[in-house]
Amino acid sequence: MNAVTASIVTIGDELLIGQTIDTNSAWIAQRMNELGISINRRVAVGDTIAAITQALDEEMKNCDILFLTGGLGPTADDITKPLLCDYFGGTLIVNQDVVTHLHDLFAARKRFITARNLKQAEVPDVCEVLFNKAGTAPGMWFEKNGKVVIALPGVPSEMKHIMSVVALPKIAAQYTTEKLIHKHIFTAGEGESMIADKLEEIESRLPEYIKLAYLPDAGFVRLRLTGKSKQPELLETEITYFQREIVHILGSIVVATDSLPLEFLLIQALEGTGKTISTAESCTGGGIGSAITNVPGSSTFYMGGVVAYSNEVKEHVLGVQKNTIVEYGAVSEQTVTEMAIGIQSQLKTNYAVAVSGVLGPNGGTERVKVGTVWMAFANETNVVTKEFKFHYDRERNKDMAIKNALLNLLRLVQGKLG
Ligand code: ATP
Ligand code: MG
Repeated sequence: MNAVTASIVTIGDELLIGQTIDTNSAWIAQRMNELGISINRRVAVGDTIAAITQALDEEMKNCDILFLTGGLGPTADDITKPLLCDYFGGTLIVNQDVVTHLHDLFAARKRFITARNLKQAEVPDVCEVLFNKAGTAPGMWFEKNGKVVIALPGVPSEMKHIMSVVALPKIAAQYTTEKLIHKHIFTAGEGESMIADKLEEIESRLPEYIKLAYLPDAGFVRLRLTGKSKQPELLETEITYFQREIVHILGSIVVATDSLPLEFLLIQALEGTGKTISTAESCTGGGIGSAITNVPGSSTFYMGGVVAYSNEVKEHVLGVQKNTIVEYGAVSEQTVTEMAIGIQSQLKTNYAVAVSGVLGPNGGTERVKVGTVWMAFANETNVVTKEFKFHYDRERNKDMAIKNALLNLLRLVQGKLG
């Protein structure tokens, strides 16, 4: 079989004008990539019969699997379903399983079900219904001339649910013969060109079925080895060997060997230690705490934090000395040290992080330039401070401050921060 290809058409006027960012096609593309199915094109079209039909005609020529998302709802602008029904020469029939599901769903939400709602249970008789437990509009799987068209609701959580539970296993069974294996190396502290220099020799030795990708983000570089093979055990051994060799070459800049975000690595590192953390944040405005609380189970380790944006809060809530702020400034090594010790002792945690900085575009001084961020990391015996200089806009500087705080917290917990 030749390489399998897919295209993705996202439907909705809101996507065309940029009111809704199309995250659906990125997510689907990622899943296809994991299955080793290459993406031919990603297209967004408006809510018109002409636009959708044209996209169908065009994309069906060049791919094996066509994904459509959006336009399955009961409102007038959602026209995908009748259009697909015509396109594949079917008629709409009521699916009793969906009717039952809709009644149950509305009863559980204590809402009356209307005729419009019940229209969701009408499906073309020429498709396989992809049941949607997460919502009202079912997905649909059509097959014609050896090609598959999969229509999914636009709501991202519903689309993902149907894909994960029904469509992806079906696609994997039908299309993939080769197994795809990914291995990751997450690094901090060096740019991608410096890393590429170090890995030049090993890259020249990679077989053609193993690829190395560089994925830079917020000052970190994630490396991903991807291998494709019909012999997964052999591939696993070989790709693990290359991963180990890369880890060895890169040494101390390696943070982790998986693809998890920093906050997940942090919570993982805390697991089983019985230790706790707290945060005192000025310029990051609670972003560090927000990231940590994205991790299920973080409540065992994260006691809480204070957003100490004003000097008053730094003094009165965290116990920073007035003199310290007057003498050294709010963005200083001394202030963040006292902030970290303050939150650590108030919340009685083993570890604490404190952050204070100037993210821009204004607020810089001769002494403290825009982009300067001080951080303090406290454990039971010691406080380590670090000064960062970020050079981007406010949003990106903030993101980098949050990620660097999480990275150094992770190192602190691992006993590697010095
Ligand atoms: P519903 O049954 O809820 O009406 P639907 O299939 O008709 O589902 P739409 O009405 O087109 O879907 O979109 C539902 C919601 O999902 C809207 O808020 C829309 O902005 C959002 N959405 C649609 N397409 C995308 C996309 N490609 N990426 C992210 N969000 C999307
Ligand atoms: Mg719509």
